[in-house]
Amino acid sequence: MSKITIRQDGSLIVPDCPTIPVVTGDGVGAEITPAMQQVVDRAVSVAYGGKRQIDWMEVLAGGKAFEQTGKSLPEETMEAFRTYHVGIKGPLTTPVGGGIRSLNVALRQGLDLYVCLRPVRWFKGVCSPVKHPEAVDMVIFRENTEDIYAGIEWQAGTPEAAQFYQFLHDTMGVTKVRFPETSSFGVKPVSKEGSERLIRSAIRYALDNGLPSVTLVHKGNIMKFTEGGFKSWGYELAQREFKDEIESGRLTVKDCIADAFLQNALIRPADYSVIATLNLNGDYISDMLAAQVGGIGIAPGANINYATGNALFEATHGTAPDIAGKDIVNPCSIILSAVMMLQYMGWHEAATLITQALEASFSEGRATADLARLMPDGISLGTKAFAEEIAARIQ
Ligand code: NAD
Repeated sequence: MSKITIRQDGSLIVPDCPTIPVVTGDGVGAEITPAMQQVVDRAVSVAYGGKRQIDWMEVLAGGKAFEQTGKSLPEETMEAFRTYHVGIKGPLTTPVGGGIRSLNVALRQGLDLYVCLRPVRWFKGVCSPVKHPEAVDMVIFRENTEDIYAGIEWQAGTPEAAQFYQFLHDTMGVTKVRFPETSSFGVKPVSKEGSERLIRSAIRYALDNGLPSVTLVHKGNIMKFTEGGFKSWGYELAQREFKDEIESGRLTVKDCIADAFLQNALIRPADYSVIATLNLNGDYISDMLAAQVGGIGIAPGANINYATGNALFEATHGTAPDIAGKDIVNPCSIILSAVMMLQYMGWHEAATLITQALEASFSEGRATADLARLMPDGISLGTKAFAEEIAARIQ
């Protein structure tokens, strides 16, 4: 057992046998997470001839954690992610009732994972609702800790909502609330620091990966100080910290209003490469772009703090209770998230082997039912058979 450690600049020192905490997840997590581990173990073994290996360490969250410890997100789990820095998780049931609103949000906020990273690309053979899915090749940097997602809101009719309105009205002179008695209120904090660290990460990613542009997507025409601030702080940061790269033409920094972006991303997706955006916009954009390349079952994601090096890779879909236990769930979201994890660790050879195996399988029409049934001559494989086939293709 050995730990990944982090240099002062946030880069990783990865031993040959790093311990990686893994949350199996609820519902289909029990099927997709072992499938992912099988494929990753095979790729690492083939890529490094047995010299490297992942030491998976199961940690608890969600339903299994609640059954065993009485808590949905035990402190030991948070501590393991802090100690080992890089982890991966299956989907978690959102607890119903009071307490934690969402385990995913609690993990992101608790570990200050300020980037939600979502690469979106098309795999040949996968059916898409658009004519040229191959033109969709983007990486979304969604701010993960601020915006209306901060969870600062008060329900209509409560004393807190009334008190908040009273402050707005009496102290701040706000007279624009149309129906104050029946209004709920939410607060949208967007800071210079929070915007800058997200946009800086996006620009560095573009430069490190030879990508041509970063687009700041915002709604600053309406929300002038929050979303507008995001845009202007972004441009100022780009000019201050990346002037040479911009002037030499290595990188373009541009912006687009969110509604126009949703249209443009459908009509001319090739104009966009790296996207930096706020939390709520990023939520909508991630799902729309994922749909353009084949949908929820193959959309990977990660939550990262590039300063501490802490990163949590995850299946982006939910627990899919309607198909759990039927051996039909598509494990590609978590497998592709593991590919991102291997790349983040610098284990590019293993990552490439997995990507190539998936490309080969999809181009032959061999996939789980959600994808195969839409492919001409598609052949549906169960979750286990698909994982075995992908592992076997890795030579
Ligand atoms: P869901 O993503 O679980 O399912 C939506 C639909 O997509 C279902 O029909 C499901 O069968 C299908 N689907 C999802 N993943 C699939 C896959 N890999 N292969 C094939 N089909 C797939 O969303 P939901 O039903 O709204 O949520 C169920 C539970 O998951 C809720 O408790 C919700 O809070 C939770 N959730 C968790 C996460 C997460 O942990 N990241 C994300 C979203 C929802």
